[in-house]
Amino acid sequence: MADYDYLIVGAGLYGAVFAQEANARGRRCLVVERRSRPGGNIACEERDAISIHSYGAHIFHTSMPEVWHYVNRFASFNHFINSPVANYRGELYNLPFNMNTFHQIWGVVTPTEAAARIGSQRQAITNEPQNLEEQAISLVGTDIYEKLIKGYTEKQWGRSCTELPAFIIRRLPVRYTYDNNYFSDRWQGIPEEGYNRLIEKLLDGTEVRLGTDFLKDRAELATRARKIVYTGAIDEYFDYRFGELEYRGLRFETERLEEKNHQGVAVMNFTDRETPYTRIIEHKHFAVHAPELLDAPVTWITREYPDAWKRGNEAYYPVNDARNQTLYEKYADLARTESDVLFGGRLGAYRYYDMDKVIAEALATARAEMD
Ligand code: FAD
Ligand code: UDP
Repeated sequence: MADYDYLIVGAGLYGAVFAQEANARGRRCLVVERRSRPGGNIACEERDAISIHSYGAHIFHTSMPEVWHYVNRFASFNHFINSPVANYRGELYNLPFNMNTFHQIWGVVTPTEAAARIGSQRQAITNEPQNLEEQAISLVGTDIYEKLIKGYTEKQWGRSCTELPAFIIRRLPVRYTYDNNYFSDRWQGIPEEGYNRLIEKLLDGTEVRLGTDFLKDRAELATRARKIVYTGAIDEYFDYRFGELEYRGLRFETERLEEKNHQGVAVMNFTDRETPYTRIIEHKHFAVHAPELLDAPVTWITREYPDAWKRGNEAYYPVNDARNQTLYEKYADLARTESDVLFGGRLGAYRYYDMDKVIAEALATARAEMD
């Protein structure tokens, strides 16, 4: 007899939402997590009263009413709006691409003037864009592509923009209004008590074993539950039977500075090719509900360096190009034959999911599974 209904592998957002839903339906769950703390990539740490996003800037945003109402049951969100600034060799531009950016690049003032500039620069692209470079030029023209996209993207992904899928750049809005909001979603914010508290509340009442790698103890752990919810990398689960899926790695360098205000904004993107990092985040600026932090004489910053990924490293981004997508489909077919295992989350589904999509997916799976 199994002791648990579900063994959940991974205490990230997907695993925590599934655990909450199973618990609420009276199911018994065990969560195993190989890191020493829960939260996956949304985990934070508190230093000098500042919540530090340990794995890069995490801004919650969604247009899904169900997801927004759901997260608000477990956290209250401040009114932070992400408005990053791009730094290209010391020249500053507003992001995402909007009338402020067009004015800074070309001196244009009206949407019609901006559209005319972009229209003339995109003429080289006559077909449906086939890759990120063509997509970018078609959206914003060659000047912005060269200064704000090419260098950033090539260091972020470690390959040429012509070898990357177009959808990656479509994550960013292009607006003919003076609006620096990086996201177009209806709701946005940062949990006022931090992401750790959100995860803690989701996992409330569920047994969690940290420092436990499912794959190292698979035979024993698998017998403990009727079903497994697996949120780790799908190729790793199958012992890389068809070969490795590609991921992009990251390296974070976090530093305490004896300064009140280092860069005046939460996120600054360094878009030239030469600067080795892509972004600097200054964590206190996320806490718009606690403006007194701006007066404190200390600040914390994190430089985010893109990195090659190899087995054993944390996999941060799936590389969803055609080759990897085809390989993923082979793993997904295999996964469908494992009737007692549900694969989910960013790594289990090999999808470039934001947090809201992860929650929506976990809720849908929980419903399909238990209702
Ligand atoms: P994860 O958080 O990766 O959790 C999976 C967990 O499973 C991990 O804790 C891992 O240790 C554990 N695990 C894996 N294998 C095993 C095993 N064999 N045994 C035990 N445990 C295992 N989204 C947004 O909405 N807004 C943002 O601003 C944003 N910014 C981001 C910035 C960066 C740099 C990155 C990398 C992502 C960002 N995201 C953002 C995406 C967000 O991080 C993810 O959508 C979300 O955290 C994914 O949750 P998950 O549970 O699927 O995966
Ligand atoms: N991007 C860019 N310049 C920027 C910011 C983003 O070229 O200043 C491109 C880059 O290819 C990146 C993609 O847009 O991978 C998506 O950006 P997003 O900020 O959504 O990336 P994430 O936060 O997921 O790393």
